Amino acid sequence: MKIPQMDLVRQYKQIKPQVDKALAEVLDSGQFIMGHWVREAEQAIAGLCGARHAIGVASGTDALKLALWACDLKPGDEVITSPFSFVSVAEVALVLGAKPVFVDIDPGTFNIDPALIEARITDRTKAIVPVHLYGQSADMDHILEIARSRRLVVIEDAAQAIGAKYKDQPVGSLGDMACLSFYPTKNLGCYGDGGMVLTNDDDLAERLRSFRKHGQVGKYSYKFIGFNSRLDSIQAAILLAKIAHLEAWNNARRGVATKYDGMLKGLPVERPYVAAYAEHVYHQYTIKVERRDELRSFLADRGIGTAIHYPLGLHLQEAYRPLGYSEGDLPNCEDASRRVLSLPMFPELTDNEIEYVVGAVREFFNHA
Ligand SMILES: *Cc1c(COP(=O)(O)O)cnc(C)c1O
Repeated sequence: MKIPQMDLVRQYKQIKPQVDKALAEVLDSGQFIMGHWVREAEQAIAGLCGARHAIGVASGTDALKLALWACDLKPGDEVITSPFSFVSVAEVALVLGAKPVFVDIDPGTFNIDPALIEARITDRTKAIVPVHLYGQSADMDHILEIARSRRLVVIEDAAQAIGAKYKDQPVGSLGDMACLSFYPTKNLGCYGDGGMVLTNDDDLAERLRSFRKHGQVGKYSYKFIGFNSRLDSIQAAILLAKIAHLEAWNNARRGVATKYDGMLKGLPVERPYVAAYAEHVYHQYTIKVERRDELRSFLADRGIGTAIHYPLGLHLQEAYRPLGYSEGDLPNCEDASRRVLSLPMFPELTDNEIEYVVGAVREFFNHA
């Protein structure tokens, strides 16, 4: 049997008529940038995430860039974030002249540990960017409380967690701003790059809308310094065709996770820990194991795709070495990067496939 870590084609086949129709409509309209599809996708996603405003942009990374740009960062300002994540937050902070400050993660949830944030706040700290990793919300009340008392901006990186909840509230509506990615492999993905910034603040929303089109407020009238970062009509139309399925897909992911949880019980594998406040949407089903690399190649030999999110803390990456971190500075992140393994996870995964994956994991521990 061959089981990829994730499979986009199975999903496309299910929704092919809707997607193909949406694409044909855009092509027939001749309107490829912005347009009504973008407005409708923004409205639908704002509603889904419980936010007042959604601003479509060119990618999740750009969503983070525009959100940080809206914080009026000055050179040397600091942005607190997780070292155990995709690179975007650290990258855009530096591109905008600010400095990422990494705070270690909670080893259970893999999300930034709020108890460690306070010690890293300085008078240069401007924002905290928690990441809702693998589809599970960060500990938001804790983070928001720290931020309020220090007047810091909170930007949720919700790229992996659309549809997830924190204490019954959807992620994306908890911080001052939140960022989504519609990269194809995300829980709600388009067929190219796309992203959104969410906010409940009217003033921020107006500035973000302007930032994505060069800071324009009218044709050739520039009120702000901005960027070119628009969501195109084709991607918005695809999102609109998919959005009605998101809840079912997220439920299917939870179903897969429940089956993995049950079947992996008793094996020397740490299953995902779900915090009491979280409703997880399992962007990834990520276990922690000893001999991770051996297990990974054992599974690969049996046709099973896995992934490592992420093999090295951002603080130890070559590009970020000038920030001055060394091995041992962020031990929970470093331990996770040595032991995590993401098993196949997508909504269409069948019971047979789940059994095959767990059977292979069991075989590894029984014989290898
Ligand atoms: C995917 C992702 C991003 C970046 O999104 P792009 O659309 O690929 O630019 C940022 N943060 C996290 C946590 C992500 O998973």
